[in-house]
Amino acid sequence: METKPSERVHCLIIGSGPAGYTAAIYASRANLKPVLYQGIQPGGQLTITTEVENYPGYPEGIQGPEMMVDFEKQAARMGADIRFGLATKVDFSQQPYKVWIDDEKLIEADAVIIATGASAKWLGLESEQRLNGYGVSACAVCDGFFFKGKEVAIVGAGDTAAEEALYLSKLCTTVHMLIRRGEMRASKVMQDRVFKAPNIKIYWNTDTEEVLGEKKVDSIRVKNNKTGETQIIPVSAFFVAIGHQPNSEIFKGWLDMDEAGYLKTIPGTSRTNIEGVFASGDVQDKIYRQAVTAAGSGCMAALDAERYLGAKEIH
Ligand code: NDP
Repeated sequence: METKPSERVHCLIIGSGPAGYTAAIYASRANLKPVLYQGIQPGGQLTITTEVENYPGYPEGIQGPEMMVDFEKQAARMGADIRFGLATKVDFSQQPYKVWIDDEKLIEADAVIIATGASAKWLGLESEQRLNGYGVSACAVCDGFFFKGKEVAIVGAGDTAAEEALYLSKLCTTVHMLIRRGEMRASKVMQDRVFKAPNIKIYWNTDTEEVLGEKKVDSIRVKNNKTGETQIIPVSAFFVAIGHQPNSEIFKGWLDMDEAGYLKTIPGTSRTNIEGVFASGDVQDKIYRQAVTAAGSGCMAALDAERYLGAKEIH
């Protein structure tokens, strides 16, 4: 596997969303000389959203991709060494920690900050992909506002879907909630809230067949999987809330994670079960998942790394 000579770095950051870049800004300013690998989707999940209106400091809002270019520029200006490449394997058995990039280049690092994020799960429909950003979204908190006063649909039946349906019900005239089984997975309290919302209309045993619309979403075609009956529901937006997949596969066997794969950190810190390895952003957060919370946890990771390296007197 090792075809290139290894490189020793002081602080390695894996991932380039708000958590990774914020960690890079703080780590650079603390003179940790961070090297950041961007991964397969530089800029992360925000590069597939349109307008971001809930990140403080942008009073007029900003396009997600543009905001991530700003994050990257700021990290680069502070001196972070930002590189394209995907971490494909790790060995955390001893210091310095080993991380392989693109299956070939070996990096040896004194401290590692993981900010690999999570990816929204999608239904896998061609129309869902084609209209992504044009009415199809995996984040109601990010995009719901654009559909104020409109009818929208949401698919999913877990806590996220329940929470997002409730969020949308405060903005939209009707929320059509599509549930593939005859019951919801969400916690009882969340289900009760959904049932009590007068403008959330539930469709049990219902599959989404197609998202319809030429340039933007104008309706969806759904099918009752018990009766076989199909119907077209006119909506302006289609929200997908069927779960996220944390990008933690390569850390299996090294780092503690929950059953869904979210990395576990010591509460109130970014520390994982391996000293010198820190986790920040969505890969360790299944609750908040906001750009601003991810950025905050990236800052925590850099400060924790700085303290760790300082205490170990690794310079
Ligand atoms: P979950 O995995 O809990 O739920 C996913 C939902 O999507 C399920 O209802 C599932 O249906 C449905 N689904 C999956 N694939 C499809 C598909 N192809 N078509 C239609 N429906 C589909 O994910 P969540 O993101 O909701 O939650 C993840 C974790 O985070 C959970 O542990 C949750 O409790 C937690 N959470 C907690 C919150 C809080 O405490 N405030 C807020 C948000 C999340 P089915 O039930 O049929 O499998």
